[in-house]
Amino acid sequence: MEQIVEKGKCVGCAVCRDTCNKKAIEMQADSEGFAYPKIDSQKCSDCGLCRDVCPALTSCKTASAFKIPLIYAAMHKDLDTRKASTSGGLFSALAEYAYSQNMAVGGSAWTQDFYAKHFISSNREDLEKIRGSKYFQSDMQDFHKSVKEQLKIGKKVLVCAMPCQIAGLQNYFKNDLENIIFVDTICAGINSPMVWQKFLKSLEEEYNGKIIKVRAKAKDWGWRALAHKIEFDNGRIYHKFATEDDWVRGYIGVHAYIRPCCHNCQFKTIPRIADITLGDFWGIENTGSKLDDNIGTSCVLLNTKRGADFFENCKENLHLEEHTLSEVLVGNMALVNSALKFPKRREFFEYLENNSFKNAAKKFFLYKKDSISFKKLLKSLKWLLKNFWHIKFGYSKLFKKQIFIGDSHCAFDIHRTAKINLQGIFKFGYKRNRKSKQESALLLEKNSELNVGKNTNVYYGADFQVFKNAKLNIGSNVAFNRNVQIICMEEISIGSGCLISRDVVIRDNDGGHRIIADGYKTTSPVKIGNNVWIGQGAMIMKGVTIGDGAVIGAGAWIVGNVKPRAMAMGDPARTVQKEVVWVN
Ligand SMILES: Cc1cc2nc3c(=O)[nH]c(=O)nc-3n(C[C@H](O)[C@H](O)[C@H](O)COP(=O)(O)OP(=O)(O)OC[C@H]3O[C@@H](n4cnc5c(N)ncnc54)[C@H](O)[C@@H]3O)c2cc1C
Ligand code: SF4
Ligand code: SF4
Ligand code: SF4
Repeated sequence: MEQIVEKGKCVGCAVCRDTCNKKAIEMQADSEGFAYPKIDSQKCSDCGLCRDVCPALTSCKTASAFKIPLIYAAMHKDLDTRKASTSGGLFSALAEYAYSQNMAVGGSAWTQDFYAKHFISSNREDLEKIRGSKYFQSDMQDFHKSVKEQLKIGKKVLVCAMPCQIAGLQNYFKNDLENIIFVDTICAGINSPMVWQKFLKSLEEEYNGKIIKVRAKAKDWGWRALAHKIEFDNGRIYHKFATEDDWVRGYIGVHAYIRPCCHNCQFKTIPRIADITLGDFWGIENTGSKLDDNIGTSCVLLNTKRGADFFENCKENLHLEEHTLSEVLVGNMALVNSALKFPKRREFFEYLENNSFKNAAKKFFLYKKDSISFKKLLKSLKWLLKNFWHIKFGYSKLFKKQIFIGDSHCAFDIHRTAKINLQGIFKFGYKRNRKSKQESALLLEKNSELNVGKNTNVYYGADFQVFKNAKLNIGSNVAFNRNVQIICMEEISIGSGCLISRDVVIRDNDGGHRIIADGYKTTSPVKIGNNVWIGQGAMIMKGVTIGDGAVIGAGAWIVGNVKPRAMAMGDPARTVQKEVVWVN
């Protein structure tokens, strides 16, 4: 056999190497620093075992997985544990229970030279080693055999790894699945160990010392700072916010050095294959949760009954809140979406061959410190003064990027008593076709209120009318396509992460006309949950509640409530599918 799977699909899990009885496979790093199997044809007997276990070819999906996982926001009760962990310390809670049951626990440990290698033991003291994320590929060679040893001596095992590595483990242990609890994490893609080492080398040169300790997501400035903290033997410390950290820019910013297979990851499925999935609960602050102190909140997805049963035993050490898949997805699309390709990847790696990481970062990841340029800021200020001189916007708000950006051809009629509360950038009347003169209109009458979250965009042709004393609430990351009408006489609330297609009409009233009948009301609030997708031309009528994650078909007339994750279509609309999962 020459190749097990084509290179672009290989996840580098090394399960083929650990399976081959002939020792015919060696993992070898390519020029980007990712390990791939190399087969020695002299030793290979063509038995095909390596193909049988390869997760890029065969994935043994857990038949018992729930269709929709049970979801929690969670924090470890011990603050020090949480500080030492990447998110909310959930892995530690799972491991602590496993150790208490004399199970063996496996995860990724730092090596002395700051590579990562998977390691397993049943010694509680080893938790420190395997806690915390290493944001580059962990070496799995021999790990499968080490797990096997533990099972052989009668131990049950808890193992945490990337989803693709879990798939490899499940293939390897397909006859022993009941003795292992599989935990994976949400995964934005795994980086090259070689590039990681080049990053560290650049820092050693700059700080003139040898690295002695590395922390990804150090929490001194809070979990959201995503700050690296790296200590040197000369007492100096590198400590930077994500926005100033070259490694994070290249990783989260442009995905310059993630493994090629991560651009088309086949393990980002719902249901997941692991028993339990851990992640950061990004966006927890928009859910009304009590579990947000910026020291780390995890999201936990319980994907199988085995996972849920195991988790039940770990609850004692945790603060927990039930949440929905939609709430997780709003802040963490990496759960289901693969990262885009960096267009200059080839040039980046070629340049890196003969240059330092620092210089490569300067050349390839240079981006404005602030996503809003000074010029744009001045433009916004000018526009604000012209259009909103009567509304109290402090400069501090402007600099916190609580900005209302109106495109050309916008008609604003805003009463001086109307309130606008923004949490971030709100673009109104945005034009894809820059030459269009189509008008967008916003009316805010006396004592009305417009509340908007972060990064919400309204395309051109919009007509938003908020009448006297009425309230329009819009969450974060909501996109309104062209020609959306909102007619608000009492209160309309639209959750975060919603997609509203062209020509949609949302109204909480009958235009003030009334039918003479018992209990008839001309207005009644509309409530649209998080992560709702409303198709073109749909009409959302007064008094309706649409649950989180629902999908409203094109042209649907919504006159009654729609349950969470239901798909509703027709006139009048009815539910045609339940438990829908959709992604943007
Ligand atoms: C490369 C990578 C990308 C990630 N991307 C996201 C994301 O996009 N969104 C998100 O919400 N969460 C992501 N995570 C997960 C997140 O960083 C935390 O690991 C997770 O939330 C668990 O945190 P914790 O506080 O419960 O436990 P921690 O103590 O931080 O536990 C982390 C666990 O992951 C294992 N692990 C650490 N590094 C690796 C590695 N390189 N390879 C395999 N296993 C490893 C450890 O052994 C440990 O078991 C990613 C993690 C990694 C390693
Ligand atoms: S075909 Fe068999 S002998 Fe050859 S590399 Fe694969 S597992 Fe090893
Ligand atoms: S088993 Fe893993 S390392 Fe081997 S070819 Fe398949 S994906 Fe690559
Ligand atoms: S993105 Fe997918 S293929 Fe890449 S490391 Fe994560 S789980 Fe594996």
